[in-house]
Amino acid sequence: MTRKHEFYIDGAWVAPLTPHDFDVIDPSTEEVCATISLGTAADADRAVAAAKRAFESWSQTAPAERLALVERILKVYESRSEDMSRAISLEMGAPIDMARSSQTTSGTWHIANFIKAFKEIEFIRPLGPHAPNDRIALEPIGVVGLITPWNWPMNQVSLKVIPALLAGCTMVLKPSEIAPLSSLVFAEILDEAGVPAGVFNLVNGDGAGVGSRLSSHPDVEMISFTGSTRAGIAISKAAAESLKRVCLELGGKGANLVFADADEKAVERGVRHCFNNTGQSCNAPTRMLVERPIYDRAVEIARSVAEDTRVGSAHEPGRHIGPVVSQAQYDKIQSLIEKGIAEGARLVAGGPGRPEHLNRGYFVRPTVFADVKPGMTIEREEIFGPVLSMIPFDTEEEAVRIANDTPYGLTNYVQSQDGARRNRLARKLRSGMVEMNGQSRAAGSPFGGVKSSGRAREGGVWGIEEFLEVKAISGWAAE
Ligand code: NAD
Repeated sequence: MTRKHEFYIDGAWVAPLTPHDFDVIDPSTEEVCATISLGTAADADRAVAAAKRAFESWSQTAPAERLALVERILKVYESRSEDMSRAISLEMGAPIDMARSSQTTSGTWHIANFIKAFKEIEFIRPLGPHAPNDRIALEPIGVVGLITPWNWPMNQVSLKVIPALLAGCTMVLKPSEIAPLSSLVFAEILDEAGVPAGVFNLVNGDGAGVGSRLSSHPDVEMISFTGSTRAGIAISKAAAESLKRVCLELGGKGANLVFADADEKAVERGVRHCFNNTGQSCNAPTRMLVERPIYDRAVEIARSVAEDTRVGSAHEPGRHIGPVVSQAQYDKIQSLIEKGIAEGARLVAGGPGRPEHLNRGYFVRPTVFADVKPGMTIEREEIFGPVLSMIPFDTEEEAVRIANDTPYGLTNYVQSQDGARRNRLARKLRSGMVEMNGQSRAAGSPFGGVKSSGRAREGGVWGIEEFLEVKAISGWAAE
């Protein structure tokens, strides 16, 4: 039975220093599904102190020991996958089958990939043949604060906790207070796998309480954050006094460039990708830019895919999309849909309000806007709901200009059978990632952005290196 009111500090479940109950809402029913505790700065301090003590020994462990621990974590994680899927589905509304097939397994995928990437890292190596007595050592940065959002809870937690462990860091995780249940299960998994006391700590809380304390704490060397650009800026400011390393994974407004020679499934694939996880993914291809000769046909396909997308409770099996996470997100999405209409975009599917068959729960109608103009609010702002904006273009240059004219730069997409064009565009699009012709990035590929999407790189060797410092040594004795 998950101990929802307690925090995991120094290898034990402990009560908050000051009781402060907080209800977790099931977005499918709008009812309270659990009550957790929100911690205070004092709870965060207690966890940081435990992590600081544990750093003395954990930072000195052999890489093989850390690897063996993460291999045990993977086994326990797999054995708890049903508990994990149920927790995620309940707290943030991913339909149960999707929670099983995508949400929980994103954690499995990352843990397995980090195990592979870790084996490639040389923690101490010669500088080069010209300097036989020089060495480059990679060392853990210290105590790290990990702050995560609600949209892909285990994806984001595993992208932070696992590389921090492998690097030799100790840590305090503060998951989203909106979706904290999966992280409580995750803490149980780490406990069962035998993570030494103090190496991993979990304190629930909100941004103002625990989040800001971790960001400004003098004993925290680094903050790894995923979430809104607003919070990313606040964290950077709070971290400035103590000169922490700050790694930010923020929002996106991905463009999907569909050329007239794209494969016949390209438009459907793009719409479904935009609606996946009910549109709550920072890398969603939310702006579909379509070459003029196939634009009308593409709008028609998008309309039919949206109308064909079933919306329903997260508790029902099936391939539908669920609710959005909260009343606040529902309200924000509704107001952006209204704004799209008011600013003159052409509504071709969906629109304001809930789908007709649902009168409770944070359900949004899968929505497509056509004839969206660059600069409209729905073209600029991250909506974080199942809302697609379609924009026609005439030339490749125009498409690149529209795609790059955004504060964000996380993932862009290209659909074309012309290989030379794809390679050219992959270099011109200003983003941390470019995915083309529906091919996902492979294992070990780094995830991250540029500009207001933050500049973190998570996953693969890069994701482990974020938690390491480079030490240059001279005068090393020959061995
Ligand atoms: P948020 O940024 O407010 O919250 C994310 C995490 O940061 C939570 O754990 C929260 O408690 C914490 N936090 C908030 N303010 C903080 C502060 N000042 N200091 C330290 N920690 C703080 O995001 P949200 O409210 O969950 O979602 C709002 C918007 O963020 C969404 O509409 C979406 O645009 C964006 N978002 C992006 C991603 C992504 O993966 N890029 C994920 C979730 C949300």
